[in-house]
Amino acid sequence: MLNYRLSREEMVLTQLERRGIHDERVLNAMRKVKRHHFVEPAFRDRAYDDTPLPIDEGQTISQPYVVARMTGLLEIQPTDKALEIGTGSGYQAAVLAELCHKVFSIERHMNLLQKARQALDEQGYANVVLKQGDGTIGWAEFAPFDKIIITAAAPKFPKTLFSQLKDGGLMVFPMGEKRTQDLVLVQRSGEEAMMKEVGQVAFVPLVGREGWPNST
Ligand code: SAH
Repeated sequence: MLNYRLSREEMVLTQLERRGIHDERVLNAMRKVKRHHFVEPAFRDRAYDDTPLPIDEGQTISQPYVVARMTGLLEIQPTDKALEIGTGSGYQAAVLAELCHKVFSIERHMNLLQKARQALDEQGYANVVLKQGDGTIGWAEFAPFDKIIITAAAPKFPKTLFSQLKDGGLMVFPMGEKRTQDLVLVQRSGEEAMMKEVGQVAFVPLVGREGWPNST
């Protein structure tokens, strides 16, 4: 049996700090969240490897570096209300929950949502609210959000989600073709979106009304 705590320390040092992630709050959250509880039991001993891993419905839990990078870009404050699109395993939601006041997260697959709910409950994350649905239309009831993170690849600029971002708020998402995408950081300034490309990533597609058409 691996020592998961030591594996996490090593993950933070070799995969995050050595690659330029120095935000102490983000590093502490990555040290704390038990990723092995969010992966499938068969992959538990690989939970802290430098790679995404398969979850149900042909989806993936993102690579730790990508989770830390996107979280850092959002400059999360303890008072923030954050919206995540693509709950998947619930891991990214747990990392956000360590750093902000409340996390809202939407997942289109009920099966994934239920597993994520269970893992988050078992780990004591009471400040994460989940729902099943098409996240491209956001969650108007709780808008506006300080921060929005889309953890699936958007084919185009997500207008409705942008409309649910607070003035001055930040949104991060992969945008582009299905295989690899630009990681885009947006800051809202009034009705204007100030956009910046901050790297290349590879995410599963965002499927929905303002996403890719459903091919399954
Ligand atoms: N953040 C996740 C990884 C997400 S993988 C984690 O930490 O594990 C991307 C997820 O987005 C998949 O679970 C997929 O089902 C979901 N997804 C894709 N399109 C969606 C949409 N329109 N609304 C909600 N979820 C969506």
